[in-house]
Amino acid sequence: MLNNGIEMPILGIGTYTLSNQQAENAVYWALRDGYRLIDTARIYGNEEGVGRGIQKAIDEGLVTREEIFVTTKMWTSDFGNGAAAIDASLRRLNLDYIDLMILHHSQPSNDAAAYKSMEQAVSEGKLRSIGLSNYYTPEDFDRLVNATTITPALLQNETHPHYQSITMKEHLKQYGTVLESWFPLGGRDHTQELFNDPTISSIAAAHSKTSAQILMRWHLQAGNIAIPGSSNEAHIAENFDIFDFELTDADMQRIAAMDQSRRHASY
Ligand code: NAD
Repeated sequence: MLNNGIEMPILGIGTYTLSNQQAENAVYWALRDGYRLIDTARIYGNEEGVGRGIQKAIDEGLVTREEIFVTTKMWTSDFGNGAAAIDASLRRLNLDYIDLMILHHSQPSNDAAAYKSMEQAVSEGKLRSIGLSNYYTPEDFDRLVNATTITPALLQNETHPHYQSITMKEHLKQYGTVLESWFPLGGRDHTQELFNDPTISSIAAAHSKTSAQILMRWHLQAGNIAIPGSSNEAHIAENFDIFDFELTDADMQRIAAMDQSRRHASY
C-alpha cells in the first residue's frame, strides 16, 4: 500500500537492456505468468515494446488495464521539459495513464522542476503516483521533498544483499515511502557473485530452490518491491515462482550479514 492509498504489486518484471521486441515478449510472458508490475524507462528505448506486450495480453483477455501497474522514468535530459516528456511516454506506451512515474536520477539543478511537472500531471490524471530513483542520502532525498508538494510514493534504488539500503529504508519510514530494488539479483554482469555466494547457494539447496528464487524471496520478506530483469521465458517464470516457500528467520539473518554497503553499479 503506497502512501497515497494506491496498491502496488510487490514483484514485477524489469526491462533494462531489452530491445522493443524482447520487451514485448518479456512483458507478455510475465503478464501470462501472473506478474502485474512492469518497469521501463524512456532511456531504455523500449516503452513501445512494453506497450505492445501489454496490449497483446489485454487483447487476449489475460489481464485488464486496471489490474496492471506500469512504471516508467523521466530521464535527466528531459527535466527541463517534463510535461512534454510525460506526454511522450504516454504516447510510446500507448496508455491513457501511467501508474507510477519516477525521476531517473537526482539532479539538483532542476529535479524539483521536473518533479513539479509530474505533480501537475497527477492533477490532470496522466500519472497516478510519482516518486524518485537514485537518491542515496537522506539529505538529498529531503532536499527534493522540501522543494515539492506530493510526498514521493516510492524510491527505486540499487538494492541486493551486498547493498541492502538500510539507512534509506529507515529514513523513508517517516514519509510512508516504499523502497523498490533495482539490480535485485545483483545486476547484469554481477549475478554470479550472488548466485554462487556460499550463503545464498546453501539456503537454495536447503529449500530446493534456485539462488535467483532465494534472492527474490529475500526481497519479498525484507519488504522490498523488486523488479528482476530478464528476456528469458524460463527465467521470468522462475523469478515469480516464490510463493510456495518461506525463508526462516535464520536464513534472513544470514543474508542480512552479507551487507557490505557495496554497490555493484558505478552510478
Ligand atoms: P537484475 O539484478 O534483475 O539482473 C538481471 C540479470 O540476471 C540479467 O542478466 C538476466 O539475464 C539475469 N537473470 C534474470 N533472472 C535470472 C534467473 N532466474 N537465472 C539466471 N539469470 C537470471 O538486474 P537488472 O535487470 O539490471 O535490474 C532490474 C531492473 O531494475 C531493470 O530491468 C530495470 O527495469 C530496473 N533498473 C533501474 C535502474 C535505475 O537506475 N532506476 C538501474 C538499473 C535497472
